[in-house]
Amino acid sequence: MTDGAWDVCVLGAGPGGYAAAMRAHDLGKRVVVVERGQVGGAGIHAGALSSKTMWHLSNDYAVAARTDRGYHAAGGLDVSYPKVIESVRTAVAERRSLLDRQLAALAALSDSGGVVSLVRGSARFLSPHEIEVKRLDGTVEKIQAKNFVLATGSRPRIPDGIPVDGELVVTSDQIEAFPAFPESMVVVGAGVVGCEYATIFANFGKTKIHIIDRQPRILPFEDEDVAEEVATSFESMGVVIHRASKLESLKVVDGKVEYVITNAEGKAETIRVERALVSVGRCPATADLGLEAAGVKLDKGGSVVVENTRSSVSHIYAAGDATLDIALVNVAELEGRYAVEAMFGLDPRPIRYEALSAIMFLRPEVASVGLNELAALKQKVPYRVGVVANRLIGRNIAMRETSGFIKLLASPDTHRILGLRVVGPEASSTIQGIAFLIDQEATLEDIDRCVHPHPAITEGVQECARMLLGRSVLKVGVFGREGMMRCGQG
Ligand SMILES: Cc1cc2nc3c(=O)[nH]c(=O)nc-3n(C[C@H](O)[C@H](O)[C@H](O)COP(=O)(O)OP(=O)(O)OC[C@H]3O[C@@H](n4cnc5c(N)ncnc54)[C@H](O)[C@@H]3O)c2cc1C
Repeated sequence: MTDGAWDVCVLGAGPGGYAAAMRAHDLGKRVVVVERGQVGGAGIHAGALSSKTMWHLSNDYAVAARTDRGYHAAGGLDVSYPKVIESVRTAVAERRSLLDRQLAALAALSDSGGVVSLVRGSARFLSPHEIEVKRLDGTVEKIQAKNFVLATGSRPRIPDGIPVDGELVVTSDQIEAFPAFPESMVVVGAGVVGCEYATIFANFGKTKIHIIDRQPRILPFEDEDVAEEVATSFESMGVVIHRASKLESLKVVDGKVEYVITNAEGKAETIRVERALVSVGRCPATADLGLEAAGVKLDKGGSVVVENTRSSVSHIYAAGDATLDIALVNVAELEGRYAVEAMFGLDPRPIRYEALSAIMFLRPEVASVGLNELAALKQKVPYRVGVVANRLIGRNIAMRETSGFIKLLASPDTHRILGLRVVGPEASSTIQGIAFLIDQEATLEDIDRCVHPHPAITEGVQECARMLLGRSVLKVGVFGREGMMRCGQG
């Protein structure tokens, strides 16, 4: 290593890499970030921000198209896919410019000695302390660093035999390039990303959506009541869910997508649609990093093997989707920041994955933090559960959005809060308070005592807690009979 070696070299400027670089800058370090694609990664482009922009626009459209709210759009409503994508691009550019501006500002040495330099190109290890960066113009630069953060993210998984051509058969990377709303589209894979795009297209009402799910139900990692609420809503929007179905083949025939499934009864069905979205998970983007030259171990799926973000090589850390335990922006950022703090001896508190919150942008919105019943049963954690339907909550009634429910899990003995699921409008804004309380090891009594604003969706969480304590305002003895309140245990 030369004397001019960087303090840390970050591979990838997605949420994990960007956050790592900024934390290292806080510590007065000399940082070089290598990015081969777009700053912001899947946190912005063909990913979290772009798809959420589409989701918001599609929701607005779906609400505007309703006729039960005392208004309707005179002359009818219309929407064009290119115009929607124009809005998405504006949102993406706005967010991206913030990241770019900051990188430009931090390229000059700060008073504390910190500097962040962006190098554009594809990085590959030559040895444990040296990488080469191949730029788009073919030129190569060598970079030496004392430490590294691998934050190269992930790419869509494409199963064998599925002819993704980026036009008729696409992944989330190409979906924004459709020239118009397709009349029909099959979504292969009923995980979060597949269900989110199914929601977006169903909300706009221009595309007949089919979802193929190998499992008997969508979102198999969620409790059955949550998955069923979403499935019922999909079906009410005209979405066809091929449950417990095996995809036998998918090909392009005469400019259409033709797929064959074997359904739950073992019967083969052939269906033709205009387009297909393949969303069956993601693979870590580690294959071309030359990690063997650095001695970094990968698991058999290609994820970097880490312990508290540190890889098998002591000066090389990894964050975000490259480790692919949990593919979320907030996790990538948390891990990137943690890696840098650990690398420079700050001895950070280990990341508490049990208090992580996540959102699924469906209809209705679903937000989660901590354990659900499935996870509690699997981990043999005893729990009590309270469920309160949104039909009982004043704010939901006022919003005229009463589908969905709130579900709270707590320990039977200590009353410690274990997890929350919110299925309904503003779910994403409702869970943060509980994420904090789980982190603080708070109890049902803490939720009961805290004065909640009114009217607010969070009052449903308080009512759940109070029901589990036997002191709710509305009584399970009355509304339980109509399925609007429920207490249970496992
Ligand atoms: C459609 C979609 C919707 C999503 N929605 C959400 C959501 O709502 N909420 C949420 O929390 N998460 C969401 N996610 C997941 C989230 O986007 C990812 O978990 C997150 O972006 C991971 O961050 P990362 O930094 O690990 O990787 P990435 O964001 O993938 O960034 C990695 C970067 O590394 C670069 N790179 C790769 N290899 C090299 C190399 N050899 N040299 C140099 N650079 C390289 C890439 O170009 C990329 O910019 C979504 C993902 C998708 C695809």
